[in-house]
Amino acid sequence: MVKMLEVMTHVGCPAKCVYCAQDTFCKSYEARPDPKKMLDYDDYVRWLEDVPKDAFITFAGFSEPFINPRAVDMVCYAHERGYKQIQVYTTLMNLSKEDIIRLSEIPFNPFVIHVPDTQGLTKIPFNDAYLEKVRLCVDLNLSGFSATHYGYVRPELEDILGDNLKTYKLLSRVGTVDKSKIPPNIPFAEVENDFTGKKIKCKYQRLTWREENGKVEVSGATPMVLPNGDLVLCCMDMAMKQIVGNLNEQTYSEVLAGTKLQRIAETMAMKNDDRIICHKCEEAEDISHECEEVEGITEITLLQNKWKAQQEQLVQQGMRIEQLAGELSASIEELKKLAKHLHAVLSPFRTIHKWFSPKKVEKRIRRLRDKILKKKKSATITFEESEKKDVPVDRNDKAA
Ligand code: SF4
Repeated sequence: MVKMLEVMTHVGCPAKCVYCAQDTFCKSYEARPDPKKMLDYDDYVRWLEDVPKDAFITFAGFSEPFINPRAVDMVCYAHERGYKQIQVYTTLMNLSKEDIIRLSEIPFNPFVIHVPDTQGLTKIPFNDAYLEKVRLCVDLNLSGFSATHYGYVRPELEDILGDNLKTYKLLSRVGTVDKSKIPPNIPFAEVENDFTGKKIKCKYQRLTWREENGKVEVSGATPMVLPNGDLVLCCMDMAMKQIVGNLNEQTYSEVLAGTKLQRIAETMAMKNDDRIICHKCEEAEDISHECEEVEGITEITLLQNKWKAQQEQLVQQGMRIEQLAGELSASIEELKKLAKHLHAVLSPFRTIHKWFSPKKVEKRIRRLRDKILKKKKSATITFEESEKKDVPVDRNDKAA
C-alpha cells in the first residue's frame, strides 16, 4: 500500500515556469478558508504525528519548497523522526551552500533538482552562484540525486551534471497548463482521456483501490497538504477540484479512511456517477474491459462490459460509415454537376478541334484548290470564247 504525504511549504512560487499552472492554483487557493502563504513549522510537526513511518514524505507541491525559511528544518525533522522515504523536488532557489551540506546527511529517495534551459521554460536565476550550488550537489554525491530539464539543456549544466540529467514528458496537469506557451519540440502529455462512467485506475498510483465482494476500499493514497491544512487528492490537482480533507480538522489516518477518498475510489470502481478529475487525467487508465481476475468482479461481468464496449464501437463505426456514404453520394452529385458544366464549356472547343483536324483542313484546301482551278479553267474558256466572239469584223476587209 503506497502512502505519502506531499508537503507544500509555501504558496506563490516565484519561479513561474511556463509549464506550470501557477495562476490557476493560486486563484483556487485564495478562495479557500484561511489561505495562508507559509506553512507553520508547528502545524507541520503536529500533522506528522499521525503519519505512519513507512509513508513517503515528499517536499514538492505547487511551489519551490525552500522559499519557506523553515523548509530545511522540516526535511531534517522528518529524517530525525525516522521516516525512511524522504523526497525532495527543488529548483535550489533560496538554498544556501550550508543548507545543501546539511541536507546531504539525509538518504533521500530521490533528491531531484529542476534546472534551467536555454529556451527559458524553467525560470530559475542562472548565474555563477547557482552553478556552484549545482556543483556542490554533485560533489557531495547527494543520495538519490538527479536533475530534470525540459527543453534544451544549458551546456554549462551538461558539463557539471553529465549522466544525472534526465528529461520527462511535460504533464498537462489535467488540462490546467497553458499549452500555447510550450514550444512544439517539447514532449507534452495532452489530456485526451475522457473516462467518465468507466472503471479506471491510477497508473501513477496516486490513489489505489481494491474491491472485495462488491465492496470498494482505498488501498493507497498520496494527498498533498497545503499551508492551511487542506489536502488535495494528488499533485495533478492544480485547480483544487478534489479536496479530500484538512489536517487541521482531521488526522492523516482519518483522511485516508474518510468518506472523500472512499467516494473517489468508488467512482473509479464505477459504483457511483460522480465526476472526478481522474476521469480526464493523463495518468488514468481505463480498466473496464480488462478480462483478468479483479477482486470481486466476475469474468462474466467483464466479458459483458467488453461486449457492450464492442457493440458501442460497432454502432459508432456504423454511424461513421453511414456518414461517409452520405458524404460520398453528395460528392458524386457534385462531380456529376461538374462534368455537365465541363461538357458545356468544352463542346465549342471540340467542334473547333474537329474543324481544324489536319485531314479535314487538307481536304478543304484540296476542295478549295479544285474549285479555284475549276473556276480558272472555266474563266479561260469563257475568255477565249468571248475573245473569239468579241473580235470586231472589218466589214470592209470582208468585202474586199
Ligand atoms: S488525478 Fe490522475 S494522478 Fe491523481 S489520482 Fe487521479 S488519475 Fe491519479
